Amino acid sequence: MTTPASTSISRQIPLNEINQKVQSCKECHLSETRTNAVPGEGSSNATVMIVGEGPGRQEDLEGRPFVGRAGRLLDELLVSIKIDRKSVYITNIVKCRASTRSSNETALQQQARDRKPTSEEITACAPYLEEQMRIIDPQIICTLGDTATQFILEKHGLKTGNISKIHGRTYSTGRVKIAPMYHPAAALYTAELKDVMKKDFRRLSGLLSQTTLESIG
Ligand code: SF4
Repeated sequence: MTTPASTSISRQIPLNEINQKVQSCKECHLSETRTNAVPGEGSSNATVMIVGEGPGRQEDLEGRPFVGRAGRLLDELLVSIKIDRKSVYITNIVKCRASTRSSNETALQQQARDRKPTSEEITACAPYLEEQMRIIDPQIICTLGDTATQFILEKHGLKTGNISKIHGRTYSTGRVKIAPMYHPAAALYTAELKDVMKKDFRRLSGLLSQTTLESIG
């Protein structure tokens, strides 16, 4: 599926504006402990948008999504279904790292641990993701883990459930298909989950082929 270059440019400009807003955002307390905000990256013409929970330590240091160990597994899964990471758009529900570190402690003073973002943090950050989805207008949203899945399904008025029960399913809403998956971080410590993720990604590949055929037809 090809998209005119003019469309690419008209999407990239507002995406860049969001990136700038995110990088200077102070809408929630996560701004006080972040090193870098992580707006997201990838193709402005992406058919597939991948949405995780939030940046971890490595992402916070580099300002890029999914570049730590979980990111490397995500890359491996994408390669296994012949999808180029640059052809999708990767982002998170919250754009700054949620950790146990407080604002008056340096990283050296405390070994911060990642935590789930609170509902207040998710609500504060949601407009950025909503705007990214509106601009990119993906046909498939792949959600990684419980937090992202719950947010995206509820946003589309769909009933959600634990990721262990609903991973690998496809939810259709209008022209958008939602494909929940386990978060790759969970599969780092459980070999069985990695096999489950490989299977779910093969389903994603099939969904992408079907979506592309429908678009051509
Ligand atoms: S998490 Fe989102 S709302 Fe909170 S400071 Fe970062 S960009 Fe702003």
